[in-house]
Amino acid sequence: MGSSRATERYDVGVVGAGLSGLTAARELADAGLEVVVLEARDRVGGRTAEGSLSTGNAIDRGAEWIGADHERVLELVEKFDLELREQYDAGADRVAVAGEVFDHENRFRALPEESASELQAALERVESLRRDVPLESPDDAPDAALRDATTLESWKREVIDTEAAREAFDAFVRAEFTVEPGEISLLYLLAAVDAAGGLGADDESVSVAQEYRLVGSTQRLAEGLADGLGDAIRLNEPVRKIDRRGDDVTLVSDGETYAVSDAIVAVPPPLIGHIDHEPPLPARRRGLVQRMPMGAVIKWVAAYEEPFWRDDGYSGSVLSADGVVTEVADGTLPDGDRGRLVGFVAGADALEWSDRSATERRERVLEELERYFGPRASAPLEYTEETWSTTRWSTGGYNAAMTPGTLTSCGDALREPVGRVRWAGSETALEWRGFMEGAISSGERVASEVLEDRAARGG
Ligand SMILES: Cc1cc2nc3c(=O)[nH]c(=O)nc-3n(C[C@H](O)[C@H](O)[C@H](O)COP(=O)(O)OP(=O)(O)OC[C@H]3O[C@@H](n4cnc5c(N)ncnc54)[C@H](O)[C@@H]3O)c2cc1C
Repeated sequence: MGSSRATERYDVGVVGAGLSGLTAARELADAGLEVVVLEARDRVGGRTAEGSLSTGNAIDRGAEWIGADHERVLELVEKFDLELREQYDAGADRVAVAGEVFDHENRFRALPEESASELQAALERVESLRRDVPLESPDDAPDAALRDATTLESWKREVIDTEAAREAFDAFVRAEFTVEPGEISLLYLLAAVDAAGGLGADDESVSVAQEYRLVGSTQRLAEGLADGLGDAIRLNEPVRKIDRRGDDVTLVSDGETYAVSDAIVAVPPPLIGHIDHEPPLPARRRGLVQRMPMGAVIKWVAAYEEPFWRDDGYSGSVLSADGVVTEVADGTLPDGDRGRLVGFVAGADALEWSDRSATERRERVLEELERYFGPRASAPLEYTEETWSTTRWSTGGYNAAMTPGTLTSCGDALREPVGRVRWAGSETALEWRGFMEGAISSGERVASEVLEDRAARGG
C-alpha cells in the first residue's frame, strides 16, 4: 500500500531465463497460462553463454558439451534446426600427475599399472555404491549419514594409496564438480554420479556426456525457447523480493511489481539467498541456500591456425593435477574452423586465479599448454576466457554443490515448494543434475507441478 508502482498480474511468474526457467515458461504458456519471465541479465541463457572469436565464429563461454543420452537437449537441437558435431576423440589423452605426463586412449587408464588399478578400483567402488542410492531420496541410502559426513578427501585417503592415483582422483573431482575433494561428501558424489547414470569410466571413447557440441553455441537453445515466449520475457529485471503473504505471490524487481498465482524460481541455489523472502524461507530451504555454494571455474579458449596436436597423435584431452589447468579438450569444429583448445581452471585454483590479472592467467595457461602440446600451443592466434566466480547472476560454475552433511540435513527441501513458490534449476534435477539436460528436465517437472496444483485448486 502507498506504492505508486503499477502491479502487473500473471498466472505464473518465472524468475530466471536460463534453460530451466525458459522450459517451464514455454510449457506453461503452451498450456494456455499467462506467464512472465523476469531475467536479471540483458540476455537469456544464464550459464549457456555465447562469445565469439575475431573470425566471427561463435564459442561457448559456458556450457558446451551434449551427451548422447541428453534426450531433451537433442530434441531442442532438432527443433531449432541447430547443427550437432561429434567431439573429436582420436589419439591419446594426456594425464598429468605428480610431475609426469602419461598417455592413453582412455584417461582413466593412463597411469602406471599400480596407480591405474587403484584408481580403477576406487571408481568401480563408486559405481557399485551409487547403485544403492535412491534417485529421489539419496538420504535414504545405506549409511547415508556416515557417507554424507565423509569428505571425498578422507574417503580417497582410505581407498587409494599411491600419490599418482590420489592426484588423478583430485583432478577428476575438480574437472567434474569444480570443487576440491574436501568440499563435498561421498554421498553427494554417489548421488550425482547416479543422477548421471554412472561414471562411464569403461567407455573407451570421449568422456561421458561429452559426445557432441553445437555449431554456434548452446545459448542458441535458450534463444530458441525464448523466441516462442515473445514479450513474456523481461530482461534487465532482477527480482529483489518475493512476498508470499497474500493470496498471490508478489515478485518485486527494481521498477515493477508482479502479482502471480504461482511463482517458479529458476536461479542457481546460492542466488536464491540474494532475494529478500517475506516471510523468511523455512529453515531447511534457507539451509540449502547457505550450504550449496557455487563451484569455481575459469573457462578459456585458445584458437590456432590448425589443430596441430592431432598430427602429433593427441586427442587434445588433458586431465591434470599439476599446475592450474585441470582439464583441456579439443574444441575445434570440423567446418574448416581454426584449431581450438578449450579448458578449465577449476576448484581452489580457480578462486585464486580469478583474482589475478588477465595477463597473468593467460601466460600461466599457455605455459601449461606448451608442456602438453609443445611450443606452438603457447602462441595462439587468440585467447579468451570467462571467470565464472566473478560473473554476476551466476557467481560461479559449473553448478552449486552441497557441502558435507547437507544432503542428509536439508536435501529433501531441494524440490519442496514453499507455499506457491516452486524451485527449478539444473541443481534440482533428478537426472543429469548439473547439466543442461537436468536444467530442462527440472523446468518440465516444475511446470507439471504447477499445472497439477492449479487443476487441484480448480483453476
Ligand atoms: C563454464 C561452464 C561449463 C559448463 N559446461 C557444461 C557442459 O559442457 N554441458 C552441460 O550440460 N552443462 C554444462 N554446464 C552446466 C550448465 O550450464 C548448467 O547446469 C545449466 O545451464 C543451468 O541452467 P539453469 O537454468 O538451471 O540456471 P542458469 O543458466 O544459471 O539460469 C539462471 C538464470 O537466472 C538469472 N537470475 C539469477 N538471479 C536472478 C534474479 N534475482 N532475478 C532474475 N533473474 C536472475 C540468471 O541471470 C540466469 O539467466 C556448464 C556450466 C558452466 C558455468
